[in-house]
Amino acid sequence: MYTTYEISNTEINKFKHIPVMAEAVIEYVVTPEAGLYLDCTVGLGGHASMILESSPHSRLIGIDIDPQAIKLATENLKPYKDRVILFNGNFADLDYIMDQLAIDENFDGIVMDLGVSSIQLDSPERGFSFRANGPLDMRMDQSKGDPVYYDLERLSIKELETIIREFGEERFARRIATNIINTNKVSPIKTTTQLAEIIERSKPRYSENIHSATRTFQALRIYKNQELSNLSIGLEKAISLLRPGGRISVISFHSLEDRIVKHAFQKHERGCECPPEFPKCVCGKRSSLKIITRHPLIPKGEEVSANPRSRSAKLRVAEKI
Ligand code: SAH
Repeated sequence: MYTTYEISNTEINKFKHIPVMAEAVIEYVVTPEAGLYLDCTVGLGGHASMILESSPHSRLIGIDIDPQAIKLATENLKPYKDRVILFNGNFADLDYIMDQLAIDENFDGIVMDLGVSSIQLDSPERGFSFRANGPLDMRMDQSKGDPVYYDLERLSIKELETIIREFGEERFARRIATNIINTNKVSPIKTTTQLAEIIERSKPRYSENIHSATRTFQALRIYKNQELSNLSIGLEKAISLLRPGGRISVISFHSLEDRIVKHAFQKHERGCECPPEFPKCVCGKRSSLKIITRHPLIPKGEEVSANPRSRSAKLRVAEKI
C-alpha cells in the first residue's frame, strides 16, 4: 500500500530540510541487512531516505500526524516507493496504526525525531513561528480541532499561566498570561505577531540568549498538540514493537521531552517497578531494554552551524533485550 498525492515540484523545492544527527541515527540503529524500520515522525522523509539508502533491502513504515508532511514524504521517498508505506496518524496510536496496516512483524529499528519540521516552522500560515506573521494556529494536524487562538479565548489566567510555566519553563508566566487574557478581552489575539508583541511587553528587557517569545510559543505548541502525553504513550507502544536486538532512537529538543525519554528507557532497563522498601519483587517485571547511550548524544558544532534546528537536539538510543 502506498499513498499518492498531487504536489508540484516548486512546492517541494521551496523547503530545505536537513535531518538532525542523521549519521548517528544510522550508525546506532540501522544495519546493512534487510530489516523492517519504523519512522514515527517521517516529516519530509530526511531520516527515512537515509535509512532506506544505507540499508538497501530494508522496508520502512513512515508515520506523521501532519497530512502535509505525508504529502511531501510521499514525493521525497518516491525512489524507494516499493519499500515504503506511509501513514497519516499520531504515534500515540501506534497499535491502532499497525492494525490498520495489518503489520504483525516487530521492528529492527525505530526512530522518533520530535517537535516540528523546518517546513512547519517556516510556513507562516501554520502559526508556529513568531518570526513571521500568520494566524496563531499551531496545530500539527490542521484537519482536526481549532487553532490555538480559540484556546486563548477559553482559558483562565491561572490555566494559561500553568501552561506557560510548565511547558515553556518561563519565569514570567504570570505576567504574560495576565496580559494575554486581558488584551484578548479588548481585542482578540489572532496572529503570531500580536502574541509575540504582548509577550515582549510582559518581560523585562534583559538579554536571554533566546527570543523573548520562544518559551511561550513552545508552551502553547506543546499544549495544543498534547506533545508530552503523546510522547509518553508513543514511546511505550514503540518499545513494545521492537524485536529483541532491535534499537530505538529518539531525538528531543527540550528538557521536558528528554526527561520523558530518559525515564522511559531507565524504567524498561530496571524492569522491576516495586517500591524500594519491598523486600522482594512482587510485580514480576523484567528488564526489557539496554540503554546504549548513557548520556545523550548532541550534534557537533559544524552541524549546528549548518542546521540551526539541530541546536538543542539530544539523541538517546536503547536496545530491546
Ligand atoms: N525526521 C524528519 C523530520 C521530522 S520533524 C525528516 O528528516 O524529514 C518532526 C515531525 O514529527 C513533524 O513532521 C511533525 O508533524 C511530526 N510529529 C509530531 N508529533 C507527532 C505525533 N504525535 N505523531 C506523529 N507525528 C508527529
